[in-house]
Amino acid sequence: MSEDISQKRKIKYIFVTGGVVSSVGKGIASASLGLLLESRGYKIAMMKIDPYINVDPGTMNPFEHGEVFVTDDGAETDLDLGHYQRFTNAKLTKKSNTTTGAIYYSVIRKEREGAYSGKTVQVIPHITGEIKNRIRALTAEDEDVDIAIVEIGGTVGDIESLPFLEAIRQFRMEVGPENCCFIHVTHLPYIEAANELKTKPTQHSVRALRDIGIQPNVIICRTGDKSLEPEQIDKVALFCEVPRKGIINAPDISPVYLIPLNFKEQNFDLTVLEILGLDPRESDLTQWINMVNKLNSLEEEVRIAAVGKYTKHGDAYKSINEAFIHAGIANNCKVSFEWIDSKRFDPTCEEYENPEDVLAGYHGILVGPGFGGRGVEGKINVVRFARENKIPYFGICFGMQIAVIEFARNFLGMKGAHTTEIDPATPYPVISLLTEQKGVQQIGGTMRLGAYSCEIKPGTIAAEAYKEPVVYERHRHRYEFNNKYRRMFEEAGMIVSGVHHRKLLDGEEEELVEIIELKRDLHPWFCASQFHPEFKSTPLKPQPLFCAFIRAALEYKKNHGP
Ligand code: GLN
Repeated sequence: MSEDISQKRKIKYIFVTGGVVSSVGKGIASASLGLLLESRGYKIAMMKIDPYINVDPGTMNPFEHGEVFVTDDGAETDLDLGHYQRFTNAKLTKKSNTTTGAIYYSVIRKEREGAYSGKTVQVIPHITGEIKNRIRALTAEDEDVDIAIVEIGGTVGDIESLPFLEAIRQFRMEVGPENCCFIHVTHLPYIEAANELKTKPTQHSVRALRDIGIQPNVIICRTGDKSLEPEQIDKVALFCEVPRKGIINAPDISPVYLIPLNFKEQNFDLTVLEILGLDPRESDLTQWINMVNKLNSLEEEVRIAAVGKYTKHGDAYKSINEAFIHAGIANNCKVSFEWIDSKRFDPTCEEYENPEDVLAGYHGILVGPGFGGRGVEGKINVVRFARENKIPYFGICFGMQIAVIEFARNFLGMKGAHTTEIDPATPYPVISLLTEQKGVQQIGGTMRLGAYSCEIKPGTIAAEAYKEPVVYERHRHRYEFNNKYRRMFEEAGMIVSGVHHRKLLDGEEEELVEIIELKRDLHPWFCASQFHPEFKSTPLKPQPLFCAFIRAALEYKKNHGP
């Protein structure tokens, strides 16, 4: 019987590495390949391995690392998992992302428990063994996965990447070379004086890979705004020993949702299936192509001001940016959004500007997630401007908390109302720590994380958007609406339109406020959520609150002119 299972579970593995430079686009390349394989009826699993020492990116500053993506089961992960989610149906869980830190953490824990029976614990075989275990664990509970795509972060040649590359080299031997495909994504610099894309760095990168014992089967050549010429394809093929059809021309393409179609034109998926010895099967990309066609022919346009703190890092709000695009597709309009640093609206900052002077031309305003006090007064000013001028307002996580503070201060006259995150001595702690967060000392992995149920109140903006009585959305925060003030706020016109019911340890029931909005006679569209709706938005399934916000922005534009 066990033989039968091993026969049935012949999982194929694709390993994606990067060369020449970082940020070369491995994540989107992996996600695009995932989509193409799914379109041919294969079930895929996806994983990202990051070489840094942080156990997860949850403790990293967004300026440093960009967005922290959250899965349903509450993993704080690399933003590449966001790409995987937007392009594929792969199930993303805690097993889908690991790091050097996480690997060492478990090896060292095992060593302390005496699990290595007195042996010297070493990078090879113990660290590499743990890496391989994690790659196997990705599909261990999913009987039907056909192909696992494993992306190795970093760049070949980095010190930190070595154990991972060694582990996948060993892995290939263990599962059999016929079950593995190695894809190397590189950058080809364009040299103006020679008017040429240069292949040499790619050759060097492949040589470095070979030194480790890995021969790539496919090379994805990232070429910026240029395109590979046939001679360059020949050159890469010759020097890197990859058949011509395994050299993929990958210029920058915008929007990114077109990238899989470029890959498909070059039969990238067929080449990979051939390497893995899998049947090509019929491809059906109809839905995706329809979506892309729609995206390319949007008629209207709305302008959204997105206000936040980490505006200087292009990827700090990645999933929000993408969710805007998805909601645009749903509303047949292009969403032009601009991230604006909240400091600009903070009267205590030098660069202070009146919100009206900057924000008056937008059709909707969003205040995004955030931590810490910098620019908070600016955010409060922005919400005030949106509320008083009846401009559609959408708040996410900190953006909801700020909306509550603004309402308390400026509508209810609760001077000095605040979140205890910023002002622990506030006379009105309208946002305060979640019960279970009190006493939490360790920073990493201890927020309220992952998907929670949210019951939607009928007749509200949220109900109209979701059209479902109960939804599940993902969280990442420590603070929440302080229920002590709930009645007061509701009597003044704030509606609690989504709550999470839960039982406390003492058996008492508690409701956590998940969505707030303003009565429509106070404001036409003012809605904010404690959770992060952006983490579930995909181009084929735009997120309902984002869609409703963009619809409201369109309506605002209609009534107020362009
Ligand atoms: N800083 C706030 C909290 O921890 C909001 C977090 C967020 O926006 N993700 O509750």
